[in-house]
Amino acid sequence: MAVGVKTYRNCIGGEWRDAASGKTFESVSPATGEVLGEFPESGPAEVDQAAAAARDAYAGWRLVPAPKRAEALYRFAQLLVAHKQELAELMTQEMGKVLPEAGGDVQEAIDMTYYMAGEGRRLFGQTTPSELPDKFCLSVRQPIGVCGIITPWNFPIAIPSWKITAALICGNTVVFKPATDTPLLGTRFVELLAEAGLPAGVVNLVHGPGGAVGERLVQHPDVPVLSFTGSREVGTRVAEQAAPRLKHVHLELGGKNGIVVMDDADLDLALEGVVWSAFGTSGQRCTAASRVIVHERVYDAVATRLVAAVERLRLGNGLDPETDVGPVINRGALEKIHSYTEIGLAEGAKLLTGGEVATGGELAKGWYYRPTVFGGVEAGMRIAQEEIFGPTTVLIRVRDLDEAIRVANGIEYGLSSSIFTQDVNRAFRAIRDLEAGITYINAGTTGAEVHLPFGGTKATGNGHREAGQAALDFFTEWKAVYVDYSGRLQRAQIDNQ
Ligand code: NAD
Repeated sequence: MAVGVKTYRNCIGGEWRDAASGKTFESVSPATGEVLGEFPESGPAEVDQAAAAARDAYAGWRLVPAPKRAEALYRFAQLLVAHKQELAELMTQEMGKVLPEAGGDVQEAIDMTYYMAGEGRRLFGQTTPSELPDKFCLSVRQPIGVCGIITPWNFPIAIPSWKITAALICGNTVVFKPATDTPLLGTRFVELLAEAGLPAGVVNLVHGPGGAVGERLVQHPDVPVLSFTGSREVGTRVAEQAAPRLKHVHLELGGKNGIVVMDDADLDLALEGVVWSAFGTSGQRCTAASRVIVHERVYDAVATRLVAAVERLRLGNGLDPETDVGPVINRGALEKIHSYTEIGLAEGAKLLTGGEVATGGELAKGWYYRPTVFGGVEAGMRIAQEEIFGPTTVLIRVRDLDEAIRVANGIEYGLSSSIFTQDVNRAFRAIRDLEAGITYINAGTTGAEVHLPFGGTKATGNGHREAGQAALDFFTEWKAVYVDYSGRLQRAQIDNQ
């Protein structure tokens, strides 16, 4: 164990416990290499204990009236508000994004928690007339049981909040496995939920690797619901492994999001949108703009001005207010991002700026990659097709809106999309034709709000949505209720003909 490094635990049935193996793993700051804590390297045994605790707690929690469940969430939201600065600073240290963006991540969790708490007094069903006399029909939402929540590191407070607050307000209980790169934030999230007064066992936390912990959760017979955000490779495996038990599986996976810049666009605005969407969070957002599809009449202007803007971005520790772009998450990410620079060069794309690991001065302590722009990119190249998940974007030249939409849609993913144009007709065509779960008009590809559905089409997901009302559809099942007060047996489709 490193000297002075704090050791953290799992939370199972309301108790903070070590892993039975006694083994631990470290959380290391991508900005400085500092060890931030040690966490239990759990395995299937801890998942089994957590699932049992969640199953036991479900028996009581499902019967707590939803407005009362909401009270715990309101208290949790207030705690998030009180701890916003602390959590944001921790996030910048543990995950790397710059402090204002880390504050935005926490704010998203605050917004989501208030929103879901409000659902405690809605969770609306329907009432509808019966086809038979003296009969009453309604539908109600019912909780499902224990939800396995598996999250990535890139939105380490926001994404757990999307899933966990929705699961809880609907009356489910949770086993939460955060990403191994951000276990400290996962722990703080659960500590604050406990402080908000959730009954023991309603939310359980199990740290550890995807293979041992994640897979056991996916296969566990007492965990009927799985909400997973992460890579397409792992998500596909989750779906396959959950299939034999016919589990409810929600997958939110990768993206290769495109911004279309038309010849009538406000170029200042478009460039600002591209820089923010492509390089915010060092390009490690699922909604990052990793393709910029530019009308040929403004292509040269966009390329020149984008390179100038990107070269002004300051790389560094996100706690420094001068920093625009922080590190990437770890060595593996740095190597993957650089491998795509080599792929792009081999494919014949033109490296306009960046394309290298940044190591000068303080940067040598962390994982930093120079913001990178490729020009002259063909839509079918690998750098224009595959998710790089780093500060790299590519410019693709197109002749008109039809080609722009064809190129924008010519990928396997379908998460976010955007068009900059001043022409309302073009904007509405884009809204209709872009194959994506989200379309922005005159804004970049990021910036979702919590009361709208969030998620992607095609290989980004499997048809469910996070956030807003749509999240409730995943975390509940509908029950149709028929109340016959006629005093006789009335047969639907037969006795009313
Ligand atoms: P990842 O797939 O490597 O890991 C995600 C989570 O799954 C982690 O907690 C990990 O430990 C766990 N895991 C790993 N192997 C597992 C297994 N075999 N069974 C069960 N769980 C397992 O993804 P990542 O690197 O943490 O995140 C980056 C990816 O997430 C990108 O592809 C990004 O686009 C995607 N993402 C998508 C959205 C969205 O809403 N669509 C949002 C954020 C991130």
